[in-house]
Formats: sequence, structure tokens, C-alpha cells
Amino acid sequence: MTTSLYFLVWGLATALALPLLLPFHARALEGVPAFTAANALAVLSLLAYAAAEIVPPGAYVMVSNAAWVCSVALVYIGVRQFFGLRPHVLRTAVLCALCAAGLAVLLYRSDDLAARLVLFSVYTCVLMAATARVIFRQRKRIQTGGVVLYLLLAVLALAALHALRIFVYGTGVATPMSLLQPSAWGLFFIVCGSVTVPALFLALLLLIQTCQSEKMQAALTFDSLTQAYSRRSILDELERELQRCERSGGRLAVLVLDIDHFKSINDRYGHAAGDTALRHYAQVVQNAVRASDRFGRLGGEEFVLLMYDCDAASALVHAQRVCDALRDTPLYLQGLEVPMTTSGGLASYQPADSADGILARADVALYQAKEQGRDRVVMARSARGAGRAAAGVPASAPHNAPAPHNAPAPHNAPAGAPQAAGTTA
Ligand code: GH3
Ligand code: MG
Ligand code: MG
Repeated sequence: MTTSLYFLVWGLATALALPLLLPFHARALEGVPAFTAANALAVLSLLAYAAAEIVPPGAYVMVSNAAWVCSVALVYIGVRQFFGLRPHVLRTAVLCALCAAGLAVLLYRSDDLAARLVLFSVYTCVLMAATARVIFRQRKRIQTGGVVLYLLLAVLALAALHALRIFVYGTGVATPMSLLQPSAWGLFFIVCGSVTVPALFLALLLLIQTCQSEKMQAALTFDSLTQAYSRRSILDELERELQRCERSGGRLAVLVLDIDHFKSINDRYGHAAGDTALRHYAQVVQNAVRASDRFGRLGGEEFVLLMYDCDAASALVHAQRVCDALRDTPLYLQGLEVPMTTSGGLASYQPADSADGILARADVALYQAKEQGRDRVVMARSARGAGRAAAGVPASAPHNAPAPHNAPAPHNAPAGAPQAAGTTA
């Protein structure tokens, strides 16, 4: 009765992850159905032992062993699926069937408890070790610290527990006994199992949850089309960087970029080709800038580059390099070479700058670059100069106001506006 209760508690503890795994089914995630089935089978395996006193031994032992053997196989398959690897279903199913058949023979034919215990534990140990190997090799795909370690510990602890069981019962350290018969080793394995098995399924749940939230975080951080930083994250980064400059007097240059005549690419080759052109553009710019610079998409065909620790003169050189790289890297659409150029407005950090302020200055300079014939970068004037000059486009205008180069012409305002300090391409 007492050991049945242990199995009942063990089974219920293992069932804790089950209702938490179910909601992930709706999201069609690889591996989740296998994990859920594995969890349910592990619970069945333990509850079968809990029901030992009301079910004939020939039935509960075989149900329990078969359910466990399938559960372990599904954990291995699920982990491979989860990481996008070939799941090796056939070879794992064959191994699983052979083990179940072996256990049935050892139970019904020869009634060899020692051999049954050893076969059961060898199988579990091998598949858990294989699972740990997969997780270890894929560990870099999960960024959140501790999750992979926790999962590896749970899987390896289960493998180690079964290795110890093989040693204890296989080498005669203890006489093989059914887990239902209270012995010191039997109790030890029950207690350790009731920690490691629930921990394994909770760790798998944590893996799924972590992976989902990392994917969501990436979707918020990066633009899905170009893989540049998203508007939200690049503007947040700009705010942080401006605060840092304010505190410690750092240098920052902001380059607002806009593809020239992009609409004509869409019109001539179609929207999908326009998307290809945007991807090409982002790739070229990212290859042309320093690894430390941060490149983001503000929206449409407008981008921004944050150049850290960069004075105005060297920022202008880097910005010019972007224009040159784009001009020199051909884009092919539908077998035709499509020339692409970009214009840029460059603004340098000035004390007490706000994100809206520096972007507005860069925008006004961008407008100048467009006016001067495109395919060039224009350096914005100082905040005060730009503020005076950009009549109709206040220097402090929020960045989500219409882009100045589409707005009523600051260049019609007295020439004074952002000075065309830029280079022509
Ligand atoms: P300018 O040199 O003055 O900047 O001219 P432009 O044609 O580049 O600028 P305009 O603002 O007239 O056109 C921008 C076009 O960008 C219009 C819009 O349909 C297109 N666009 C914006 N976002 C996307 C996108 O995600 N994919 C595609 N294919 N096109 C986009
Ligand atoms: Mg454009
Ligand atoms: Mg535009």
C-alpha cells in the first residue's frame, strides 16, 4: 500500500506539466505533441504501478513498462523535432518495439526480474544520453541562461539514475526486487525518480516557453523583411544612446537614409521584387558599416544608422561609404540589373539633443540631399541653425510627422537650412 502511494504521488507530480503543455498544441510547435504524449504516457506508467493492488500483476507491469518505453522514445523524438532535426522516428520506434517485446518475453516467458530491470534501465539510459547529446549540440539556439543547463541536468540525472540501477542490480550489489517491494535501494530509486521525471517534463515545458518568448522578442526587435532593427527597437536604442551621451559626453552620429526612386522599382517589377530590393539594400548597408553601428528600418524604404563614438567628419566618410557600396553592388531583378542609390541626412549629437530633435535635423538634411539630385549625403547644421532654417519643419517635430523630404519644402525656406555640407556621390 505504501509503495503504491509513492507511485501515486510520483505520477501526480509528473502530471503537473501536462495541463501546461496542452495550450502549446494550438500553436503547432514542432515537438510539442511528442512531449505531451510522452508526459501522458509517463503518468500512465506510474499510475499503473499505483494501481498494483487492484490490477493483476501481468497487466500493470506490462502496461507500465510499455508506457514508459514509449514515453522515453517520444522525449527523444520530440527534442529532435523541436530543434528542427530529422526525428529518426523509424529507428527509435524499432528500438522501442524491441525493448517492449524483450520486456514482455522476460515477464511472461522467463519471469526474469533482474534481466527485465537491466533491459529497462539500459534502454532508458541510452535514449536519455542520446537526448542529452542532441540538447548539448543545439544549446546555442537558446539564449536565455540556465534553461539548457536545467534541461540537461534533468535528462542526465535520469540517465545517471538508470546507470546506477544497472550497476546495482546487474552486478549483484543488491538483489533485484520489484519496485513495489520496499527495499532500501528500491526506495532510493523511487525518491530520485519522483524528482527527476517531473523535472524532465517541467524542463521541456520551460524550453518551449523560453523558445517562444525568445522568438517573440526577436520579432519585436528585428524587422521581419530586412532583418534590420525594428523601428521600435532602434528608436529605443537612440533614446538610450542620447542619455548616455548626455551623462558621459559621448559622440553619436545619426544617418537617416531613404532609397531613391524606390516607387519606380515597385511599379516596374512588382511589390515582391520591391521587397527583394529592400532586403538587398539592408544587406549592402549592413556590410558597408562598422559592426558596432546599429542599423534599423524606420518604415517603408526609410532607414536609420546610429554611428557610435563617431565625430561628424568620420560619420560623413562612413555615410558616403554606404552610398558607394549601394551603387557598386548590383541588384538583379528578373534577370535585369537594377541600379539602386540612396540619399542620406546626417546629424551629430549636440548637448541636450532629443531623439525627435536629432532625427528631425537628419530628416531635413535628407530632404536637401534629395533636392540636390539624390545619391548623396548631406550633413545637418547645428540644432539652432536647423531650427531656424527649417521653416515649416520644426527641428523638434516628432519623427512620426511626415518625412520632411515629402513635406512642404524647407529648402524653399531661406537657404540657411541644413547646410549642404555633404558630399556628392
Ligand atoms: P524618393 O527618391 O523621393 O524617395 O522617391 P521614392 O519613390 O523612393 O519615394 P516614395 O515615397 O514616392 O515611394 C516609396 C515607396 O515605397 C512607396 C511604397 O509603396 C513603397 N514601399 C514602402 N514600404 C514597402 C515595402 O515594405 N515593400 C515594398 N515592396 N514597397 C514598399
Ligand atoms: Mg525613397
Ligand atoms: Mg521615403
